[in-house]
Amino acid sequence: MSTQPTMPFQARPDICLIDSHCHLDAPEFHGQRDAVVAQAQAAGVGQLLLPSIHSDSFADTLLMRERYGCWIAFGLHPVYLQRHLDDHLHLLETHLQRDAPQAVGEIGLDFYLPGLDASRQETLLVEQLKLARKYNLPVLLHIRRSQDRVLKYLRQIPVPGGIAHAFNGSPQQAEAFIRLGFKLGFGGAMSYSGSRRIRALAATLPLSALVLETDAPDIRPEWAQEKPNTPDNLQKFVQILAELRSIELDTLVTALWSNTYQALGLDLPARDRLPSR
Ligand SMILES: [Zn+2]
Repeated sequence: MSTQPTMPFQARPDICLIDSHCHLDAPEFHGQRDAVVAQAQAAGVGQLLLPSIHSDSFADTLLMRERYGCWIAFGLHPVYLQRHLDDHLHLLETHLQRDAPQAVGEIGLDFYLPGLDASRQETLLVEQLKLARKYNLPVLLHIRRSQDRVLKYLRQIPVPGGIAHAFNGSPQQAEAFIRLGFKLGFGGAMSYSGSRRIRALAATLPLSALVLETDAPDIRPEWAQEKPNTPDNLQKFVQILAELRSIELDTLVTALWSNTYQALGLDLPARDRLPSR
């Protein structure tokens, strides 16, 4: 990028959180993006990773990087299967080649929503894993009710790790993703006292395997179910995670920060820019 972002994200010395999965391009945020970003920055969010969902969102994703200096990914999301045409894979490849995104995503399989052709989803996943491999990029995975199937393809087409977003599998599945170099994304689902399995996973998985995310505007937290989820909620999510793990907030924030850099294969910024209090 030749120009400076208008509202750049930057590491703050007091607290620094990274939202590793935020759909700032969602219609819920149209006309509100500057406000959503400003609120996130005020809440100590130092970076957002914006996955894209279909080819129409690629240009918008680039505009958001220009304006906010955030991290981006390009991908064809399985839930939007009907919008993807074969030549969108070519368009995706052009963007991967030309625009230096941090990852390929959001890609994966959704076996929960009815009416999504499984074999077409799988073909699309395979082609995008091949692109991630070709361009040596990590992937942001959508794995709703499809963990084992996605793991099968990751074993066939190894990629440089990435993030299994909104992780909700078994400890064994978690272990399998971790062995393949993945971090696991946790967010608003931890806020529900009834989410016993997710809370248990968040409490017991190795700290080195975790990253924080909102999936904004989706996965609304328990305390704000009537409005879109926003990245400033990370401030509360990290507190919930610290309580679940009985760990100091500072230690947790620093670990999550470096885990996210690691998931994306990025060098950590200089030591004096690391969060510390
Ligand atoms: Zn998503």
